[in-house]
Amino acid sequence: MTKSFIPVFRPALPNGPEIAPYIAEIDARRHYTNRGPLVERLEARLAALFGHREHAVRTASSGTSAIEVAILAHAGAAKAERPLALIPSFTFAATALAAERCGYQPYFLDIEANSWTLDHERLARHPVLARAGVILPVAPFGVLPDMRALEALQDATGVPVVVDAAAAFEAVVGDQAAISDRVPLTLSFHATKSFSSGEGGAVLWNEPRGQARVMQAANFGFFHSREARVPGTNAKLSEYHAAVGLAMLDGLAQRRADWLAVAGLWRTHSAGRDLGGRLHLSPRLSSAYVLLEAESPRQMERTEAHLYTGLVETRRWYEGGLHVQPHFTARGRDPMPMTESLSERLLGLPMAHDLDEEHIVLILDRIAEAASTSLRDTA
Ligand SMILES: *Cc1c(COP(=O)(O)O)cnc(C)c1O
Repeated sequence: MTKSFIPVFRPALPNGPEIAPYIAEIDARRHYTNRGPLVERLEARLAALFGHREHAVRTASSGTSAIEVAILAHAGAAKAERPLALIPSFTFAATALAAERCGYQPYFLDIEANSWTLDHERLARHPVLARAGVILPVAPFGVLPDMRALEALQDATGVPVVVDAAAAFEAVVGDQAAISDRVPLTLSFHATKSFSSGEGGAVLWNEPRGQARVMQAANFGFFHSREARVPGTNAKLSEYHAAVGLAMLDGLAQRRADWLAVAGLWRTHSAGRDLGGRLHLSPRLSSAYVLLEAESPRQMERTEAHLYTGLVETRRWYEGGLHVQPHFTARGRDPMPMTESLSERLLGLPMAHDLDEEHIVLILDRIAEAASTSLRDTA
């Protein structure tokens, strides 16, 4: 076999000819942004796919700006008495950066061992709630938190909840009840996510008045006039990005079949093998991720190094959690036993909708080799 580099993720978006009919429409119409017809069509098609009315989906220019406008629309900008945004440390930097753009100070929480999301019962009794203006649970790797439990948490505490579900596109397609009328959730359409418009995102919320505020916040705070009335930003998706998203929807049935087949290959070839840990993949996770949860930090390092010398790229997707990243270290936080344990053991493996079977076997062989070396070490 040729020894070639295997990247951790290799996106494939619609190609030129697939996007071309939509670009021709833009050329003819000369309507390029500000909620043009392609943006409206993309929102309507996504809403239908999710089993909801059209207002339930409002696009944004990125997953990060979707979080930002959802916070502004649901919780508003930070107020002096409630300056904190409660955020799991086990997430991508965007969650906390979006909260900061709305004036909040992140306060980091640990996650629960099995769900990888916030422990709602513990959070409901947390003393820091008295100073919290918003709670931002996350769907790590596309694993959706329990939306009914989050509605109950919002009711019990009076603190608005916005869910960063950036990678949860497939989970939302599979579960109509994921979209709430009370708790907005946001998606990312970045190229590394399983549904992409290049850059882009959306707020999913079955609440027409709330979604009107989302559109207002995404358009400089304007509403039926050019007067800034509320805090806002420019988070509008352009017609060009909507064109890519529409072409991606045209090919979605095939793409989903491809993802299913590749996940099946991972499952078949890993069955019964000692990998020094266990694999996590779709349908629990987004199809864009395959993760090895190693038995120990040492085992993870050994596996990472052995894959690296075999030209297999891996990634610690959330690094060591946000609480240890330089920009965030001074922020308030809880103790982080689960976040620390998981981030030292969770290794992102290569995934792509067209990942070769022989590459999957090669990767699994190297992981098994790293596991058997460790047995010899400890013998
Ligand atoms: C991808 C991702 C984001 C950021 O989305 P962008 O579209 O890149 O802005 C935010 N949060 C999580 C959990 C993500 O995975």
